[in-house]
Amino acid sequence: MVQSDNTVLSLFRDSDALLQGHFKLTSGKHSEWYFEKIRLIEKPAVMDRIIDLLAAKIRREVPDFDYVVSPAYGAIALGFLAALKLGRKFAFTQRVEEKMAFRSGFSGIDGSRAVIVEDILTTGGSINEVVACLKERGVTVAGVYVLVDRSGGGIPIEGRPVGSLLSLKVEAFEPAVCPFCAKGVPLTKPSASDKKV
Ligand SMILES: [Zn+2]
Repeated sequence: MVQSDNTVLSLFRDSDALLQGHFKLTSGKHSEWYFEKIRLIEKPAVMDRIIDLLAAKIRREVPDFDYVVSPAYGAIALGFLAALKLGRKFAFTQRVEEKMAFRSGFSGIDGSRAVIVEDILTTGGSINEVVACLKERGVTVAGVYVLVDRSGGGIPIEGRPVGSLLSLKVEAFEPAVCPFCAKGVPLTKPSASDKKV
């Protein structure tokens, strides 16, 4: 079920960011896999090696863009690091009264070309909000990249596949039909994410 280069997988495992077990997701469903992204923020040296791989992929696939754009707050560190490695500018979006917007001050972004960098693709909800935000400013979306694609490549953004370092087709089960509940595996509720998705 895991399609990836072993280097990426071992980096995620080394950082304790990719956990295997029996987890209660924010949707209420249960899953065998959980990605604890805060572990990467906690370990800059591992993050640095992971972003090296992401930046190399972006460099190969997107020759022409001006900005890396990431949504606040979880993806700011990785987007900033990617922009630094790629020699591009960086900007982030944040929610202002529930709506995704650019913080005032990112005035140079209008009409530019941007690559969106996010940590995890699950439903595409927050990435689509960033896309809408970029379009309002006349920005061309030159690519969309995530560290982990939990849809296993199943969710295109703007009609294009999303680039990822790790593609996981994660099955989520209703508790009543969860095979791990049936086996009596203890259920873990991961630390609550502050992400409103
Ligand atoms: Zn279960």
